[in-house]
Amino acid sequence: NVKRKGKNNYLFFDEKMKEKFNKKIRIENILRKALKNESFVLYYQPIIETRTGKVASFEALLRIKDFNISPEVFIPIAEETGLIIPIGKWVIKEAIKQMRRWRDKGHNSLPISINLSPRQFFDINLIDYIKKTLEEYDVDPSFLEVEITENVFAEKKFETVNILNRLKALGVMISLDDFGTGYSSLNYLTFMPLDKVKLDKSLKDKFIELENIKIMDSLIALVHGLNLKVVTEGVEEVEEFRRMRRAGSDYLQGYLFSKPITIEEIGEILNKDYTKLLPK
Ligand code: C2E
Ligand code: MG
Ligand code: MG
Ligand code: MG
Repeated sequence: NVKRKGKNNYLFFDEKMKEKFNKKIRIENILRKALKNESFVLYYQPIIETRTGKVASFEALLRIKDFNISPEVFIPIAEETGLIIPIGKWVIKEAIKQMRRWRDKGHNSLPISINLSPRQFFDINLIDYIKKTLEEYDVDPSFLEVEITENVFAEKKFETVNILNRLKALGVMISLDDFGTGYSSLNYLTFMPLDKVKLDKSLKDKFIELENIKIMDSLIALVHGLNLKVVTEGVEEVEEFRRMRRAGSDYLQGYLFSKPITIEEIGEILNKDYTKLLPK
């Protein structure tokens, strides 16, 4: 009896694994097709300057046209298969092209940040590709920001600092993304040539829930002490806006202001003053 149950369990795990495997293959195929047919699209989520309530920049977030698959699902598969390299190049180029289009239309250009996963970050062609593309479209490097997470430099600290220094030398801005989800060693912040730290939504939620905003005040003061700017991610409520403003977060990002939107929708939010949301 026990044995039979065991056997069924194996069968169960087998099926689950097979399902997972098939899903991976399916998504891998979708990614390959999307590359071939150029059916990736960038959505843009505004990052708000806390003090003025104005849009300061945009984070580019990748989507696949006609598919409702989250990057949380397809980015790890792209990373695993190596497809992240050509996909990432497309993202870099598209973001730079967008900045050029704004300029050509006579709009005020705003910086765009892009996410880099570990494999992209350590790709030996990355820096040349960014440099070449900025030159091709004649875009000011300081308008491009790259976001990396702690898992990028988990093992290769030395190499990471080296790549970051080369990006800095190009003039590109650097943000540490999802701070508060990994080991979040404050030590990293002291030797990485960063410009901004993005506090993860979960960290903000934890402190606000604990009504322990004072810890947040101290953390932000500490980051400021290292000459870095602070961005708070995942701001969904006016109360969070108010509190993170008081805590000194320089920038805010979240559904309260806007979800990631298409390029066509950007015009509607460009001139908003989000401080109007705050209680008088
Ligand atoms: P991320 O870089 O931390 O991006 C922020 C994520 O939080 C986005 O999810 C965004 O839509 C979501 N978000 C923003 N405001 C709120 C809010 O108020 N509440 C909640 N619950 N969520 C909010 P998204 O677009 O699904 O992207 C997920 C992750 O996938 C990104 O996290 C990033 O790590 C990765 N990713 C997205 N696009 C790219 C890309 O082009 N390249 C690479 N390598 N990774 C990407
Ligand atoms: Mg990001
Ligand atoms: Mg993040
Ligand atoms: Mg994230």
